Amino acid sequence: MKTRAAVLRKAGTPWEITELELDPPKANEVLIQMEAAGLCHSDEHIRSRGMARLPLVGGHEGAGVVVEAGPGVTRVKVGDRVSCSYIPVCGKCRYCSTGKQNLCDAGKWAGVGCLQDETFRFHQNGEDFGGMCVVGSFAEYSVLSEWSCVKIEDYVPMELAALVSRGVTTGFCSAVYAGDVRVGDVVVVFGTGGVGINAVQGAAWAGAKHVFAIDPNEWKHRPDPRPARRHGDLHRGRDGQRRGQGRRGHDGQGGHDRDHRRRVLRDGAARRHPDRVPQEDAGLAVRRRQPAVRHPDDPQPVARGPHQTQRAHYQDLYARRN
Ligand SMILES: [Zn+2]
Ligand SMILES: [Zn+2]
Repeated sequence: MKTRAAVLRKAGTPWEITELELDPPKANEVLIQMEAAGLCHSDEHIRSRGMARLPLVGGHEGAGVVVEAGPGVTRVKVGDRVSCSYIPVCGKCRYCSTGKQNLCDAGKWAGVGCLQDETFRFHQNGEDFGGMCVVGSFAEYSVLSEWSCVKIEDYVPMELAALVSRGVTTGFCSAVYAGDVRVGDVVVVFGTGGVGINAVQGAAWAGAKHVFAIDPNEWKHRPDPRPARRHGDLHRGRDGQRRGQGRRGHDGQGGHDRDHRRRVLRDGAARRHPDRVPQEDAGLAVRRRQPAVRHPDDPQPVARGPHQTQRAHYQDLYARRN
């Protein structure tokens, strides 16, 4: 079959939209109709510096629907909605089964873009095109190893699934797992690009007391029209009103530290039992998960009702789009 794709033939040149031949899936491979792709700075690194085998189809963050499955495929089936892992993981080797999927041998062709049998599925005039990280999500259709596919639920919007396929999870988990952020920690995140800003979110989710996001790009410093908060103002609310310090605990003791601990406990409870949290507390819990820094061109986040759980939020978002 044929598919349109954004390809790179030479480092330092722009992405080129072209039509490629696409082979059908072989054993343990699937044909994916891509519905969403994320543009990560790694794509830009390859475009500007050629840090992979060229020519290649760009894109390693993607989500789509399985439209054809090759022989022996067991992980997904035709019709499944999937998020594409930015490296294939077998799920069975020593590393995969001990939570270190990033070390799976199946990821060794990420920089080449060929499938596990070392052949390519994209071609043009006899020339083989790799897919970035063996995904190649900048194509309308792509053939992937089934090991690159993670089945997702119907209510997860494709554009979010595409982001979770790499950048969001990398940043979030660098704070929550690699950094092991604990309640009350002070966290510093250097660089607030796609990965960094999700490290900020991960640290906030894990209960960090303060998260300092440091970035040399000036446009990221005050993208939010609400008043900026300096260190001394950390306990001012977004409305500029002083929070915490002026209030005392029930016994008249304790300042903002005590309030902070209570908020953290409440937020934890809100995550575990979203339906049981009182209205005003639930509102507070979800507010903390909004990104601290937004690009001025990004859409405003969708307001969530106080009782909406994460799942309901995505269902709602999905319903509004369709
Ligand atoms: Zn990336
Ligand atoms: Zn493995």
